[in-house]
Amino acid sequence: MSQNDGTSGKLDKLLAEQREYIAKRERGYRERALKMYPWVCGRCAREFTRSNLRELTVHHVDHDHDNNPADGSNWELLCVYCHDEEHRKFEAYVRYGSSTEKRREAATHNPFAGLREALENKNADDDPN
Ligand SMILES: [Zn+2]
Ligand SMILES: [Zn+2]
Repeated sequence: MSQNDGTSGKLDKLLAEQREYIAKRERGYRERALKMYPWVCGRCAREFTRSNLRELTVHHVDHDHDNNPADGSNWELLCVYCHDEEHRKFEAYVRYGSSTEKRREAATHNPFAGLREALENKNADDDPN
């Protein structure tokens, strides 16, 4: 008799699939962006080579990671430091800007946000982080 093949196994599988999907999608747009643009940070103009390319990241201009137009118009290559700074600015803008209704959630760019919510509903005391 199987008694332990219920929801937790399904959830694990779902999580793994979701992670894989996100990783795949990220590899996809990163590679495209790196082919499209010179390997230079759009803020501090630091130049990158293969050896330090992992410190060059793809920023989404409108902060929407689902918005990946083929012409690359929503991508900007930023070094990790400038990328961080860019998100801090955006977060501050959202937090202290005109709209008080938008809160932190809108600015933290966590691809797992929706998933975490689903998890918390299911399993409130088992936060993976
Ligand atoms: Zn930079
Ligand atoms: Zn970004």
